[in-house]
Amino acid sequence: MSSWKNWAGNQRAKSLIVERPTSEEEITNIVRRAADVGKRVKVVGSGHSFTGIAVPEQIMIELSRFNKVVEIDSANGKVTVQSGIVLSDLNAILEQHNLSMPNLGDVTYQTVAGSLSTSTHGTGLERSGLAAQILSFRLVVARGEVLFCDPSNHAEIFHCGRVSLGALGVITEMTLRVVPAFNLRAVERPMRIDEVLNNYEQLIKANDFFEFYWVPHTKWALTKSNNVTTDPVDVDGKIKNWWNKMFLENIAFGMLCRVGRLVPALIPKLATIIPSTGRVEYVNISHRVFSSKRLVKFYEMEYSIELKSLVPALREIMEMVDRRQFKISFPVEVRCTGPDDIPLSTSTGRQSAYIAVHMFKGCEYDDYFAAVEHILRKYEGRPHWGKLHYLDASALSGLYPEYQRFIEVRNQLDPEGVFTNDYLRRVLGC
Ligand SMILES: Cc1cc2nc3c(=O)[nH]c(=O)nc-3n(C[C@H](O)[C@H](O)[C@H](O)COP(=O)(O)OP(=O)(O)OC[C@H]3O[C@@H](n4cnc5c(N)ncnc54)[C@H](O)[C@@H]3O)c2cc1C
Repeated sequence: MSSWKNWAGNQRAKSLIVERPTSEEEITNIVRRAADVGKRVKVVGSGHSFTGIAVPEQIMIELSRFNKVVEIDSANGKVTVQSGIVLSDLNAILEQHNLSMPNLGDVTYQTVAGSLSTSTHGTGLERSGLAAQILSFRLVVARGEVLFCDPSNHAEIFHCGRVSLGALGVITEMTLRVVPAFNLRAVERPMRIDEVLNNYEQLIKANDFFEFYWVPHTKWALTKSNNVTTDPVDVDGKIKNWWNKMFLENIAFGMLCRVGRLVPALIPKLATIIPSTGRVEYVNISHRVFSSKRLVKFYEMEYSIELKSLVPALREIMEMVDRRQFKISFPVEVRCTGPDDIPLSTSTGRQSAYIAVHMFKGCEYDDYFAAVEHILRKYEGRPHWGKLHYLDASALSGLYPEYQRFIEVRNQLDPEGVFTNDYLRRVLGC
């Protein structure tokens, strides 16, 4: 019997039977045996969800030995992988083949299946979340059958299963669309928050990948503008990359957070140091620009809202943080993506802006997160499935036009709830 906890350490499980299969056949047998005796099964990825979405209750499947690249089709821009492969390993292999993921989030510790299952996304108006790259997948369902799903085979399961919350079965292999490798020119600089908000539409249209962090207790934002370039990787790009992503974002920032946790009253003063980083510009391979190491642990909530609501929603949050005198050491992250058609994708059917709030590990976060959620609910905000929120099925069903369509597929594939857990019972209501 083993125990498990997630990256942030706020979700735990014990008394688990742990399975580490190496083949689809083994996975199928584990699921079949569990279903026969009425046990519940949960696949865990890298444990990078803050919610209880990955919490196993009885049998835990861990796929670190089921993590190979099955096929690379460079000519047609496709890669087929076993579902336990970690994004950073996939990026390294794609780089060797002069290929790349079109977009990525902030980190690449997640497994491919884990990140796609919660609608993980990066930023960029011309891109949508990672799940929009799925061309097909193989799914072991509760009755122990393997289904190959793409737009022509089990089309309804394919349509819904691209963001599955782990509720439909075990994904064993996936084929993803990839693009020729590209470099990015990164420009990172502090700007006045009013300047960013007054020019937000222009900034996201003028840059391939734009994001910013509003620094609470200040009038500043840290902006990141990443643009595709044919320029080669800078000789000193690697050093600047390390300085920004490792030293400033992890070592120096971690120290500020620790001091702030000890003496919260100092946080507003400490916050004024953050925007003094200055302007940095460098060129590097896309996945090294998109993602960073994260050594500072935190809790996070993130909501997606309609793009056009970003400015009023963020202004309300800024006003609320001041009025309630919250002491927040983590900047508030803002990103955007284009729409997709995936029923449980947080950007389904709309151009989306994402507002993410964080709290340093060990600090109380409930009041702050609940206050932010209260504001974002007025804007029909949809919470990230892998990040903390307080909604249940009754609230969530009204936020997704195809929520019921997903529930029907889920009820058809897993009527006995072999793949369920507390979190899924809460957000799916069954
Ligand atoms: C430091 C940090 C940075 C982050 N940055 C971003 C970001 O930039 N953008 C963003 O959108 N999110 C981000 N996240 C959230 C993260 O991407 C998601 O929570 C993601 O789902 C985690 O992937 P994982 O491999 O850890 O999966 P887990 O959290 O372990 O599992 C997530 C879900 O996937 C299911 N699952 C895993 N494998 C399978 C499988 N083979 N078949 C079926 N279901 C499966 C699990 O059962 C569970 O339901 C971040 C999280 C952290 C901790």
